[in-house]
Amino acid sequence: MLGGLMQDDFQLTLHHPLHRMRSVHPHAEVITLADGGIVRASYGEIAARVDRLARALGRLGVKPGDRVGTFAWNNQRHFELYMAVPCVGAVLHTLNIRLFAEQLNYIVNHAKDEVIFVDESLVPLLSQLAGTFEGVRHYVVMGDPANLGDGDLSALPGAVGYEELLAGVDDGPFDYPHVDERQAAALCYTSGTTGNPKGVLYSHRSISLHSTASLMTDALGLSRTDKSLVVVPMFHVNAWGIPHASALAGADLLLPDRFLQAEPLATLIEAERPSIMACVPTIYADLLRYADEHGSDLSSIKNAACGGSAVPRELMRAYEERHGVNVFQAWGMTETSPVATYSRPEETGVHDDAYWDARAKQGKPIPWVEARLIDDNGDEVAWDGESTGELEVRGPWIVAHYYSDESGEDRFDDGWLRTGDIAAIDEQAFVQITDRSKDVIKSGGEWISSVELENEVMAHPDVIEAAVIAKPDEKWAERPLCCVVKREGCSLSAEDLIEHLRPRVARWWLPDEFAFVPEVPKTSVGKFDKKVLRAHLQEGTLQGRVRISA
Ligand code: AMP
Repeated sequence: MLGGLMQDDFQLTLHHPLHRMRSVHPHAEVITLADGGIVRASYGEIAARVDRLARALGRLGVKPGDRVGTFAWNNQRHFELYMAVPCVGAVLHTLNIRLFAEQLNYIVNHAKDEVIFVDESLVPLLSQLAGTFEGVRHYVVMGDPANLGDGDLSALPGAVGYEELLAGVDDGPFDYPHVDERQAAALCYTSGTTGNPKGVLYSHRSISLHSTASLMTDALGLSRTDKSLVVVPMFHVNAWGIPHASALAGADLLLPDRFLQAEPLATLIEAERPSIMACVPTIYADLLRYADEHGSDLSSIKNAACGGSAVPRELMRAYEERHGVNVFQAWGMTETSPVATYSRPEETGVHDDAYWDARAKQGKPIPWVEARLIDDNGDEVAWDGESTGELEVRGPWIVAHYYSDESGEDRFDDGWLRTGDIAAIDEQAFVQITDRSKDVIKSGGEWISSVELENEVMAHPDVIEAAVIAKPDEKWAERPLCCVVKREGCSLSAEDLIEHLRPRVARWWLPDEFAFVPEVPKTSVGKFDKKVLRAHLQEGTLQGRVRISA
């Protein structure tokens, strides 16, 4: 082999974005919505605090490879941990604050977290669980020292205050240890609804490359002129990698802490005028209703990234037509860092049905991500936009093995990740997710896409949420049952919905039954929890059922 003569040993580590924060973009800002109003800090100031934090981690006895947990909202201190922990060679383990107690107990002990940094507002929640954590030696409570009562600290054994910890170490540049780019930097567990959560251990290299991809125009397209409102939690897949990408790009970060309701978000958007926003469809839907009602000005947002579950076409359309906001769909998983596909169809200037059909797909694989579809026989499926198979992906920011868990090895297929999503890919390489493999409905031997059916039901103006599940059927094996949350005070009936669907889907896709429910149950990361709906159906406790007469 004739080796290249480039600086291939330059390590792709988070030291580089930290260096850029300090030296290249010291004036970019992190803006946090706090109890008392907005808190601002420049990247230059934050880099200096990261140095102090790095020193303080040493004082707590954190060594390279140790796992450091966070139990926190989206805020400046959490961001400081995002940088400091990996840069001292340790692993940032972001704990999902919405997991059930047993799952949290499992992941803290499985990861062997040694230190947990917790937001003051979450201390009451965490202190109920702390007794079950086996290896945690220290708790650090993050909050304003003026508000931190003794009670907050004493609830957790050996707890210290974050600001007190930082104040107790020297100021000045920190001498970071050498870190190999393949070293682990961050750990996030999947929020799967069955079995134990599985750990995805991101490396410095995978985060560096994923962040670089976020700067590409065909992906998030983040640049130093952007201000990103990051609503997607920092405890879920590194907030889609936006904090790391912002540090790299020198973009401002706007962090809403725990104020995730439509009203504070709309007020924050009007006051701070972010150019990018990122969150799941349910939050966009809430914000849309609020903005429609109150005439909020969301027009500063040029690029609203949305994913985590299928993004209803009508939601994207309403944002564009009524608020001048482009909602772009992306697809990914905890296992894929998460961004793997991004939907940005060619802009022709005409936003007709064909354009919106393309926008409603999950998009093209972004550079360095490869995709294929595999059928039940293990054969590859053609990219014809019709044929479906399990989506498999590979690339430098896709998981290769779960952390210390062999039970997930069947998810890997000869270097590819089996995603568990069923998809079609069209001739233009646009991926369209039709279902999770465990959610598909097989009626009379043919597949019905629950995702597509939900999309069409949610296009009805009186429908707030729709989740379609399979109902056992003697003749057809399974038939679709559609759970619907309707707009308050409207008189929407099952027959109205059938009439609405008739011109939109094949006749045999029409649901046999609707269930008008007050709310669709959600998982810890805000996805429809169809497992709970199926359990209600099986136990006979599903509310508001209306059968359609044949
Ligand atoms: P998580 O690991 O919790 O982020 O969940 C990943 C799963 O969310 C994927 O396997 C998909 O089933 C689903 N998902 C994420 N983004 C989308 C999307 N844009 N459309 C449909 N499903 C999505």
